[in-house]
Amino acid sequence: MRPFSYQRATDPAAAAQALAAAVSDGHLLTEASMQPLAGGTTLIDLMKLDVMRPASLIDINPLTSAWSAVALDGGDLRLGALARMADVAAHAEIQRNYPVIADSLKLAASPQLRNMATLGGNVLQRTRCTYFRDVSYGHCNKRNPGSGCAALDGFNRTHAVLGTSEQCIATYPGDFAQALIALDASVDITGRSGTRQVAFAKLHKAPGDTPQIETTLAPGDLISGFTIAGRWPRSVYLKARDRQSYEFALSSAAVALDIEDGMVRDARVALGGVATVPWRAPEAEALLRGQRLDDALVQRAAEAAFAEARGRKHNAFKIELGKRVLARALKQAATMEV
Ligand code: FAD
Ligand code: SF4
Repeated sequence: MRPFSYQRATDPAAAAQALAAAVSDGHLLTEASMQPLAGGTTLIDLMKLDVMRPASLIDINPLTSAWSAVALDGGDLRLGALARMADVAAHAEIQRNYPVIADSLKLAASPQLRNMATLGGNVLQRTRCTYFRDVSYGHCNKRNPGSGCAALDGFNRTHAVLGTSEQCIATYPGDFAQALIALDASVDITGRSGTRQVAFAKLHKAPGDTPQIETTLAPGDLISGFTIAGRWPRSVYLKARDRQSYEFALSSAAVALDIEDGMVRDARVALGGVATVPWRAPEAEALLRGQRLDDALVQRAAEAAFAEARGRKHNAFKIELGKRVLARALKQAATMEV
């Protein structure tokens, strides 16, 4: 591991200024010379692997207690970016009103990691693509722009089938982000010129021609929290993976339904483990709204969600797996007691 300097943040604005001043390329997370440190469970791993090489870390854990608060404010849920995954997953009100959030966190990583890892760090975790995480591989456009993509013709079993480009097919690995995007969450960002709120759906960028640019955050931007309007007691997060614990999703679905008298008034569908970014499936949602949910409709929605999917040598199985996971999540949500 390379040497780095460490400092503790004392104030959000000052931390944002320090980060912005230190950034060598505002969008290239890998090359930024100063990085915010939250739980450290992704960042320190990648520093040990020499994938991320910040000259300095600014520890944001001392920042205001509001950044770790969890509050149901009227009809809205507010989650601080420094809240720990384990605390949010175990929160009784979240389990009751947002099971999709509680389960997306509970099914992620391991108990030790969830105790340490924060919500803000979780949504900004980097891909698990082996070619990205192992610097002995030369061809990775995300780590080394313009060098090519070893996964296209390499071992791509865990890679994405949606939102890919010829430059990168790396899967977005997190679980919680699927719940956020399904529930139309917004993200609070504290930057050099104050705090702003943007739709969570606008935070991540599909790879296109610039896979090294993963988010729309500007230099110095810190995520301070997330807001979700309304309550979603009829919601489910379902995750299929190689083993039942301590494993990333091969395919997952975050589903929220509003059903009255058997008719779907509103439907939210997001997919994980199969796409390059947290993935909303509006085609599936449109088919479900205003309809009575039965097996045929569920199947049509699942087909629609994967209509644009493109499989490669080792990952084509994810298309069928993804449809089945989504169909099961929809049926599970429809039959929940709320
Ligand atoms: P850090 O490591 O501190 O930060 C991550 C990145 O975000 C860094 O670049 C950091 O600079 C930046 N950052 C952190 N907070 C902020 C902020 N507030 N504003 C701006 N930038 C910020 N995750 C899943 O979802 N599902 C899984 O199944 C899963 N399995 C895992 C298995 C293993 C073995 C490991 C090591 C991790 C796994 N994870 C999984 C990932 C884990 O959930 C993340 O490592 C964790 O959530 C990151 O949070 P952190 O607070 O530790 O982030
Ligand atoms: Fe790099 Fe993306 Fe290709 Fe993986 S899929 S090797 S992260 S460019």
